[in-house]
Amino acid sequence: MIKDIDNFLEQKKIRPTAMRILIFKYLEEQSVAASLTDIENAFDKSERTTLYRTLKTFEEHGIVHTIDDGSGINKFALCEENCNCEVDTDLHLHFHCNKCGETVCLTNHKIPHISLPDGYLAEDVNLVVKGICEKCSGK
Ligand SMILES: [Zn+2]
Ligand SMILES: [Zn+2]
Ligand SMILES: [Zn+2]
Repeated sequence: MIKDIDNFLEQKKIRPTAMRILIFKYLEEQSVAASLTDIENAFDKSERTTLYRTLKTFEEHGIVHTIDDGSGINKFALCEENCNCEVDTDLHLHFHCNKCGETVCLTNHKIPHISLPDGYLAEDVNLVVKGICEKCSGK
């Protein structure tokens, strides 16, 4: 948990507005990736476009990453503190549960180096493992 969110956002070159701090806190509290609708439901007085713009700002500054888990709805999760969203060093696996529909970051499981043919350059890798999560498997 980051204690001084103001300072953290400033370090990432984002002006720490009240709204941004609230959204950051919300994301920090989640153990699973959140969709825009989840976030909208948590902030009932906010406009969807404002929330979306905030998330995009976070994404551009390496605070949040989006996950395409195949459900057709992009989900958002906080990056690790020192993340630069670099393909070879920062990206981790995601797990999507077929039973409860939740998607989690497996931040300790980095995406293995992917070798591409000469002349190809990876800009983003989205690796989602699908199955049954810890909660649903009851283990
Ligand atoms: Zn990142
Ligand atoms: Zn599950
Ligand atoms: Zn993630």
